[in-house]
Amino acid sequence: MTDRYASFVQSGAGRALVKRLGLPDPPRLRRHRPDDPLLPGPALLGAATGGRLAEPVGRILRAAGVEPATVDPAAGGDVAAADADTRFGALVYDATGITDSTGLRQLYDFFHPYARSLHASGRVVVLGTPPEQCATPREATAQRALEGLTRSIGKEFGRGVTAQLVYATADGDAGTETSLEATLRFLLSGRSAYVSGQVIRVGTGPATAPVDWDRPLDGQVVLVTGAARGIGAALARVLARDGAQVVVLDIPEAGDELAAVANEIGGSAVQLDLTAPNAAARLADHLAARHGRVDVVVHNAGITRDKTLARMNADRWDQVIDVNLSSQERINDVLLERELIPRGGRIVSVSSIAGIAGNRGQTNYATSKAGVIGLVDSLAPALAERGISVNAVAPGFIETRLTARIPLALREAGRRMNSMSQGGLPVDVAETIGWLAWPASGAVTGNVVRVCGQSLLGA
Ligand code: NAD
Repeated sequence: MTDRYASFVQSGAGRALVKRLGLPDPPRLRRHRPDDPLLPGPALLGAATGGRLAEPVGRILRAAGVEPATVDPAAGGDVAAADADTRFGALVYDATGITDSTGLRQLYDFFHPYARSLHASGRVVVLGTPPEQCATPREATAQRALEGLTRSIGKEFGRGVTAQLVYATADGDAGTETSLEATLRFLLSGRSAYVSGQVIRVGTGPATAPVDWDRPLDGQVVLVTGAARGIGAALARVLARDGAQVVVLDIPEAGDELAAVANEIGGSAVQLDLTAPNAAARLADHLAARHGRVDVVVHNAGITRDKTLARMNADRWDQVIDVNLSSQERINDVLLERELIPRGGRIVSVSSIAGIAGNRGQTNYATSKAGVIGLVDSLAPALAERGISVNAVAPGFIETRLTARIPLALREAGRRMNSMSQGGLPVDVAETIGWLAWPASGAVTGNVVRVCGQSLLGA
């Protein structure tokens, strides 16, 4: 589905008109293309006094082909190794050294001079210590304050710039650096085009760096449910591009579309209705016989059956809860019980911002999608011992058949009420799930990452 308004605005004539009338101005977002550099310009790396992450982050940037310019506090905050009028691809700030509220001034000192120095679709990443790991209440207070800064920058900078806060565990060791690397590479790249205003927690789970960061899923066996079209089909393509062997699953009625996706990516197809009796056991049998394991399970299949609660019949309620939530539980249970998900495995579920904000006419859907968040919260700690991560993405307005059915006025509101003034594309959700699935992302668990362009809903 195309956003005609965005296409018009991005044309020369449209741009002038929109500026004159003060209408929403959706920028063209930078999206990942395999041969592109990580960033459209150099990165500026700053750190609060006593920060613990500037050095590892500098190493990570250099390994990714980005030579960071640094702010030298001894020189009064001047940029070393870059012109003052350089246009940066990213501003990265290690705020872990901030131990009380008076230290927050260092954020202003770093960001204020460069607030207009970012490229379109540039990146802002602030690194902090999880407040619950801080040594004193004052430090925890200051670290919690970082959320307000990053979320506001996401709303303020415009032109497709994204801003995120990464809370990196203080129990640091070498494993953390790999996970931080995966997360930074994702957040700085065009893969995170429609992810903004997020708080991401990076812990200490097992993480394995890939041989080639362009193929971060090499050799992984991945299952994607609901892959005949929409987000699932985009996901299958992204995961295969990144090196995975992909098993796509959808209902038998979507068999032709599913086969086309499988053929296109050199994957295999399973026609199965997830609500059928014994579906989970049949799926487990198939995976065991064909691959002997499944490294990554992506629960993407989902349906809507919208009605206000007063008008909703019980069937609509049951179907939505069963497809969107209970089927995920049944599959997880069987795959885990039969130990088909090995150490280093990943479970990624698709939630929705409706599960965070609630939505009129979607009590069933929002209940199921909030349940998916509950599943992540409860399973992630339980599976940490087995080295399996569990995360969810919560898409906002994504241009698919599902959203094409929304009445025009509501559709336009959904598209524009976010920091990007446009809907996301299926590939944006796919890239985010891809990052959570990487073997290098092992310390990212228990997160719910919104792919919503920083939608105002539930913010
Ligand atoms: P879609 O309707 O285009 O695709 C969903 C797929 O799931 C379809 O191919 C469908 O056949 C399959 N499916 C449905 N029931 C199934 C069952 N019982 N067994 C096996 N497969 C089944 O939807 P989409 O927009 O691509 O959505 C994908 C996921 O993203 C869903 O979980 C949806 O709730 C979620 N989501 C979408 C948006 C959006 O804006 N499009 C926003 C938030 C969340």
